[in-house]
Amino acid sequence: MSDDSTPLPTYLVRESLRAKRVTLRVSTRLGVEVVVPKGFDTHQVPGIVALRGDWLRGQVRRLTEQGWSPEPPTMPEALDLRALGRTLRIETAHAPRKPPRLTLSGPDCLLLSGDMDDAQACRAKVLTWIKEQARLLLVPWLRELSATCELPFERARIRAQKSRWGSCSARGTISLNCKLLFLPRPLARHVLLHELAHLRHLNHSPQFWALLHVLDQDAAARDPELSGAWRYVPRWLD
Ligand SMILES: [Zn+2]
Repeated sequence: MSDDSTPLPTYLVRESLRAKRVTLRVSTRLGVEVVVPKGFDTHQVPGIVALRGDWLRGQVRRLTEQGWSPEPPTMPEALDLRALGRTLRIETAHAPRKPPRLTLSGPDCLLLSGDMDDAQACRAKVLTWIKEQARLLLVPWLRELSATCELPFERARIRAQKSRWGSCSARGTISLNCKLLFLPRPLARHVLLHELAHLRHLNHSPQFWALLHVLDQDAAARDPELSGAWRYVPRWLD
């Protein structure tokens, strides 16, 4: 049965280097996402979404029943950086038409000043600050674990991906998602060890898992925990 009367849900378009074709994803975290391969002509997206309209409406109904709201998420009042055991309040000072600025206004307080209606610029400021914290704190932590485990890496990079916590390249570059700062410390540590283990096994072979279980004795509990870990990250940051 078709219900064309209901408007199509809003969606985000995300370009992915790994995508080979266009896929529609629906999740309580990101809502409706259209993932397209790099360089894809995005003018085609509305047509593709319309073709899957009935399926999409059904999915959104299901999400709504699970408590999802199509409203865009609001800025969090605080950043709970669990990996650091540190919570920072976000205070705002609205000044119309002024580009947002972010300053540390106290030991546990960030002040965001400027045009608060420019949500995208506000988000960018906060994300830049989180990336900087990750560079200052996650990278030395990775270096420390790398030395303890005797698994040296070549380079560490901080990124802000939507769907991965980290990655490791054949050249020994480890990329870490700055949002790892929101995870409980043992879980963030587990991700760091996971990427370090890839320096020896660049796959998810039984040998890789065996090594990871040696590095992190609680690995069996951490992996299932990790699949639900996006809930720790404020949705607003996506
Ligand atoms: Zn992996």
